[in-house]
Amino acid sequence: MGYVLSNDGFEQVIQSLGQKYRLFAPVRKKGAGRFTDIDVILYDEVKHADEIELSAKSDYSFKEFLTPLSETLFFFTESQCRETELSEQPVLIFLRSCDLHALRRLDQIYLENGPEKDWFYMRRRGLVSFALIGCPESFENCFCASMGTNRTEDGYIFSVEPDEDGVRCSLAEPSADVGETSLDTLFAENALREAEVAPSFVTENKVKVEIPDKVPASILKDPLWDEYTVRCINCGRCNFVCPTCTCYTMQDVYYTDNGKVGERRRVGASCMVDGYTNVAGGGQYRRTNGERMRFKVLHKIVDFRKRFGYDMCVGCGRCDDVCPEYISYTNIIKKVLGASAKENGEVNGK
Ligand code: SF4
Ligand code: SF4
Repeated sequence: MGYVLSNDGFEQVIQSLGQKYRLFAPVRKKGAGRFTDIDVILYDEVKHADEIELSAKSDYSFKEFLTPLSETLFFFTESQCRETELSEQPVLIFLRSCDLHALRRLDQIYLENGPEKDWFYMRRRGLVSFALIGCPESFENCFCASMGTNRTEDGYIFSVEPDEDGVRCSLAEPSADVGETSLDTLFAENALREAEVAPSFVTENKVKVEIPDKVPASILKDPLWDEYTVRCINCGRCNFVCPTCTCYTMQDVYYTDNGKVGERRRVGASCMVDGYTNVAGGGQYRRTNGERMRFKVLHKIVDFRKRFGYDMCVGCGRCDDVCPEYISYTNIIKKVLGASAKENGEVNGK
């Protein structure tokens, strides 16, 4: 079931959805990229349809609502501790197929990785519904088809993508309650016409990777990592844009000199930056950028799978898009495949 809407009709839909939900979507920030004339597309709260960037991949991911880069968790005094308040208004996030798959990875880590669920993540997660942005074509550096994240059949209430008349939307949950009416009534009242609409999914990308089935232990000492000790500047951007990176650190901010009154913050961390593996006594597990790269890459395509049965990486390509040193993560995967095949005595990775 679906509809074609003019841009004005979609604005009416957004206005109505905004009565119930806080709306978060990719937004193009003009000239706010790494150089003055470069735009950046990041997630922000939107009030109008024309703020939503439907035609380009976002540089940063949707995860920033669920796991903000910096979040105060609670306040403390000598005798009391109180968690921060969070608006209970439902949230609707617009995102693409690969990012919906990334959500499964975030849920895995924050909710299903041990006996305790992460309460602060859970309270945000419980507020959120999703709207899918269709992908009629692949973007630069995407390799979602190789990772099996190019399609998604559920987990969203409707999809939207550009159309020559405005936008076209398919309703996955037409009876969803979106305030004073159902989703279907809301779209029907604002549509140009009803139409057979299904979300677009890419079926192949220019960038293709093959994830090695077996990675030998010798990969840990392989010289392939040395190049990144020289090239990588450990800025951590590849982690911060990644929809599946979940590491954070804790910071206490004291309001008094005696350190007994203050707040505790959860702040995003990066396995690529200095200090991430520091331990008491001045030790550091991974000193070189090559060792850090080895950890990051093998975590994404080997270690997470060993633990949970599927790869962590969803193939969004944002790490390649954002790296100031033009380091290609997909090339590294290819090198790991080649080194593994050589060690396993295989030909062409088979
Ligand atoms: S974005 Fe590039 S330079 Fe920065 S830490 Fe990642 S790989 Fe290294
Ligand atoms: S590792 Fe790179 S390609 Fe994979 S999910 Fe993270 S940002 Fe996307």
